[in-house]
Amino acid sequence: MSRIPRIVILGAGYGGIVTAIRLQKELNYNEADVTLVNKHDYHYITTHLHMPAAGTDNPENARVSILKLIDEFKIDFVKSTVVQIRPQEKKVILEEGTLSYDYLVIGLGGEPETFGIPGLKEYAMNIRSINSVRFIREHIEYQFAKFKREPSRTDYLTFVVGGAGFTGIEFVGELADRIPELCKEFDIDPSLVNIYNIEAAPTALPGFDPELVEYAMNVLKNKGVTFKIATAIKECTPEGVVLATGEEIKSATIIWTGGIRGNHMLEEAGFETMRGRIKVDDTLRIPGHENIYVLGDCSIVMSPEGRPYPPTAQISMQQAEVCAHNLVAQIRNSELQKFEYKPKGTVASLGRGEAIGIVGSRKIKGGVAAVMKKVIDLRYLYIIGGIPLVLKKGRF
Ligand SMILES: Cc1cc2nc3c(=O)[nH]c(=O)nc-3n(C[C@H](O)[C@H](O)[C@H](O)COP(=O)(O)OP(=O)(O)OC[C@H]3O[C@@H](n4cnc5c(N)ncnc54)[C@H](O)[C@@H]3O)c2cc1C
Repeated sequence: MSRIPRIVILGAGYGGIVTAIRLQKELNYNEADVTLVNKHDYHYITTHLHMPAAGTDNPENARVSILKLIDEFKIDFVKSTVVQIRPQEKKVILEEGTLSYDYLVIGLGGEPETFGIPGLKEYAMNIRSINSVRFIREHIEYQFAKFKREPSRTDYLTFVVGGAGFTGIEFVGELADRIPELCKEFDIDPSLVNIYNIEAAPTALPGFDPELVEYAMNVLKNKGVTFKIATAIKECTPEGVVLATGEEIKSATIIWTGGIRGNHMLEEAGFETMRGRIKVDDTLRIPGHENIYVLGDCSIVMSPEGRPYPPTAQISMQQAEVCAHNLVAQIRNSELQKFEYKPKGTVASLGRGEAIGIVGSRKIKGGVAAVMKKVIDLRYLYIIGGIPLVLKKGRF
């Protein structure tokens, strides 16, 4: 390859933006042309989205202009939507044009997995982007306004959250904090409001420490959340949900957080996928495609026990570091690094001042865990934008 190699990064989420930031530091002048493509001109902090969705924070705090994070002299930013990946032609089709690449990084994030449950796609909302959380926030507020006009419609004040994994639990924690404010604003008796968190698995937060799960459920129950665990949603309708037990919950608000799959374009491009995600090799490339890296929710990395790690921001960022290193190594013909996930711990927020987590081998809960959650958030802002971003967007 005699001309300057072209690196194209799809998606400016955790995986994509950290790869771009690392590349702009590591690449020498004229060593590669790097293009970052994203459908919005901002990066959103997905791990904060449960707050603006519930209305306990402003959506502005969960997004940052991409041009504030990258050096435009080193990275070309293209605001466009990717519509197709053509690995055979080494091309990516965008809504406005085509990009050719020598190296491709796919960090397009995940899509809701509905497990074929009828009606979920049509009638449930998802916490996935700034646009989706703005919609959920407005929708929730509107239900309170509507109830005042039709007080017999208790379904307006019934909120169903499908899935009690991290996203579902964090969201119901915020929603439970928001309800008293909305009740006050709209002169509504709080006892008329119901929040259901429904989970098909035998426990909330499957795979998490049982003692902490019990603590989390007690905190949330005390805030007014009703759990239905080991209870599958059989169908979602315009009127609410029907459970496998036959029970029907009438609700005008269904939020589905029950699963994630990879971006549909990966299957369409002809790659082998599992639930839309690609099992990458130990250098984070697609087996058989040594110029294509896949990161974050689009990828599957196996644990030493042979199980896929859950898709998280933490793993996406660690992958991005290795991906950037390996791109530079490939260009310089030097040795590639193997990806090894180093879990630093997990903390789930339960609303204002409450959280649970495991940091190292230590279990933490309550106020200490809530502070740790803030530290993790601030650390991420520091990684992508340094002290100025911490001061601008940090929630202290
Ligand atoms: C509410 C919530 C809370 C969470 N909390 C935590 C947590 O506490 N800790 C944790 O580790 N993980 C958490 N996660 C999971 C974490 O956010 C994801 O695993 C992580 O965002 C995945 O990063 P990614 O780079 O793969 O994709 P994303 O961060 O989702 O980014 C994908 C990017 O691609 C762009 N894009 C998508 N499609 C296109 C297209 N066709 N064309 C152009 N651009 C496109 C999107 O706009 C976005 O910028 C949470 C997730 C949610 C929803």
